[in-house]
Amino acid sequence: MSSYILSPAMLGILGGGQLASMFTIAAKQLGYSVTVLDPDPDAPAGKLADVHLCTTYDNQHALQILAQCAAVTTEFENVSAASMQWLAQYTNVFPSGECVAVAQDRETEKAWIGKSGLSTVPYAMICSIEDLRGDFNALLPGILKTATLGYDGKGQITVCTQDELVEAFFQLQQVRCILEKKVELKAEISVVVARQTDGQSRCFPVAENIHQNGILAYTLVPARLSVALQSQAQKMAQQLAEAMNYVGVMAVEMFVVGTNEELVVNEIAPRPHNSGHYTLDACLSNQFEQQVRLMCGFAPAATDLLSPCCMANILGNVWPTKGQPDWSVILNDRTSKLHLYGKKVARHGRKMGHFTVLADDSTLALVKARTLCEQLMQYTDEANL
Ligand code: ADP
Ligand code: MG
Repeated sequence: MSSYILSPAMLGILGGGQLASMFTIAAKQLGYSVTVLDPDPDAPAGKLADVHLCTTYDNQHALQILAQCAAVTTEFENVSAASMQWLAQYTNVFPSGECVAVAQDRETEKAWIGKSGLSTVPYAMICSIEDLRGDFNALLPGILKTATLGYDGKGQITVCTQDELVEAFFQLQQVRCILEKKVELKAEISVVVARQTDGQSRCFPVAENIHQNGILAYTLVPARLSVALQSQAQKMAQQLAEAMNYVGVMAVEMFVVGTNEELVVNEIAPRPHNSGHYTLDACLSNQFEQQVRLMCGFAPAATDLLSPCCMANILGNVWPTKGQPDWSVILNDRTSKLHLYGKKVARHGRKMGHFTVLADDSTLALVKARTLCEQLMQYTDEANL
């Protein structure tokens, strides 16, 4: 008997945002059915899925329905690892609750990175006011981050002195924090790795990421780094996935630091990642399809890059007070591909969509993506006058 999960089996996903939407599209393209669990009645993936369980993530009845799916995955790391472990008694859960738990906490995450033989920036945990009596000069200037629940640069404060550190700890409500040395970044990169149950893994090309206000703004591929450094980054991502015995799609964010371009691991995401959206339009397979294949027991698909590209996030900032942004800016462009997530409310800083520009090289793609973003913003500024 085949051990593969074949269509039209039902696949379940915790969360119904844009990552779940793109996962649902990939799953349906391969003939599967999808059940989404998300408490928001307007959750984008809820509209695309066959079943939308519109309730809280720990609702026992909903979890029982998910337990009947052939396999279950998650679109975000802050889902209860206990719920995932409970589901694993009844169905295939990828990634495992244990792996998701590692990524939920910056302390366990850093510990695993270290255990895998990879380096992180220097850091210390600050759990109480007593801890602040220590000497943290070696970590200053630094960034104080909440140990859990941070995303898109939220829950982070840059501190230059010991006094600022104390102040920042109070500002973060004295929750358990990590103080990281602030390093000078030559570049930020990420690697999306797909690892199968039998240990076989495959990486997508290295992505170079440009952030604005703590939020990913652009992803360029190929990254503008030496081929040797890129292959080292891919090996590191595979090494980490292996150490964690990870199954599924995982993104590893890394910093390139110092004159000798050392690679340090920043954090991991136990799921497809915003910096991997370029794979939808520029690779032989995409990160969502890869997740479907892996959770159904198949081998990872080829990840070859078909064209240099740049992905640009579209935030709520480009929505005019009334109406919609002028999508003709992107849709009239021959080599740009638009993806809108169908979110009802546009808020400042909220990820509403993205587009990918294909070009002869990634720098050209970035230049064009920036121009298109400026044109979108210009339209909005004029519409708001
Ligand atoms: P988030 O979970 O919000 O993505 P990150 O730890 O990835 O949190 O931090 C967000 C961004 O802040 C990073 O992409 C990087 O630009 C910057 N940053 C984070 N940590 C450091 C550090 N130790 N040194 C320098 N820059 C950092
Ligand atoms: Mg990050």
